[in-house]
Amino acid sequence: MERLTLQPGAAAAIDEYLEYRRIVGEDDGGKLFTPEEYEQYKKRVLPIRLQNRLYVSWRSPTGMDCKLVGPETPCFCTHRYKQHKTDFEVIPKERPISVPCKVSRCLCRSFNFVPLNGTQPIRCRCKHFADQHSPAPGFPCETCSKCSGFHSCFTCGCGQPTYAHETVVETKEERLAQGKPVGQDVPYAAMGGLTGFSSLAEGYMRLDDSGIGAPSAEFLNAPVTSTDHLFLRAFEGPSSSIGAQSQLTDGGASTAMQVSRLRRPEEDDMAYFERQYQARLKQEKAAKQKGKGPASLKN
Ligand SMILES: [Zn+2]
Ligand SMILES: [Zn+2]
Ligand SMILES: [Zn+2]
Ligand SMILES: [Zn+2]
Ligand SMILES: [Zn+2]
Repeated sequence: MERLTLQPGAAAAIDEYLEYRRIVGEDDGGKLFTPEEYEQYKKRVLPIRLQNRLYVSWRSPTGMDCKLVGPETPCFCTHRYKQHKTDFEVIPKERPISVPCKVSRCLCRSFNFVPLNGTQPIRCRCKHFADQHSPAPGFPCETCSKCSGFHSCFTCGCGQPTYAHETVVETKEERLAQGKPVGQDVPYAAMGGLTGFSSLAEGYMRLDDSGIGAPSAEFLNAPVTSTDHLFLRAFEGPSSSIGAQSQLTDGGASTAMQVSRLRRPEEDDMAYFERQYQARLKQEKAAKQKGKGPASLKN
């Protein structure tokens, strides 16, 4: 197999290009900005992005964000999140906030996440696949007449059916008010709900506060030893729960290692993690009933 070799300095040029792409997205219409245009673009757009970022997630009726939408996440309309309107000079007053598709002639009025079954598209109750339905409001089937709009009973990792979830678009203040993570302010386009590397995992697999709220103080203070399950050690990644870091760090765990662990979850790991999650929910419920929520939720 042939390998790509880079000239000296090429790697830096590629880094610069990737940085450009992450900031500009598709706003240059496929023709690279000149350095002057790039500077002007940044001056105009970055303040908007830092102040008016919208967070997009796919939320379970349990309140968990099962999917944090990122630039490459496909919409029901088959276009990616980054192809939708994601920069707002003024945040709309009405709720829900619409994030319409910018691809010409696409009928999508607002980004709408639809999960996959592994790598396969999921089916509607009319038996046709998601992409056989129109992205126009109501999501009618284009293949049959008995469908009253896309409706899938496919079960998400959280245990709830797809149709019970909704795509939520919210502001930083709205997320903070619910105790949901907002991550660092970033200049990049279409970041959606991504707030850290573990945002890429499904909600029920994230133990950090990007998914289901900060773990309880009791949970965080439990000592983690090298005999603990690797999921517990893997999930101590970037998180705003600073207290968790020192408790859970096992020394040399690199982000790369954590990512590779996350990418190959085995069935047993899932079952283990699910048990941990359920146990923690019970703990939190018990703590709430006592009238004192865990301190880490209040920051
Ligand atoms: Zn579209
Ligand atoms: Zn769309
Ligand atoms: Zn249908
Ligand atoms: Zn149909
Ligand atoms: Zn779910």
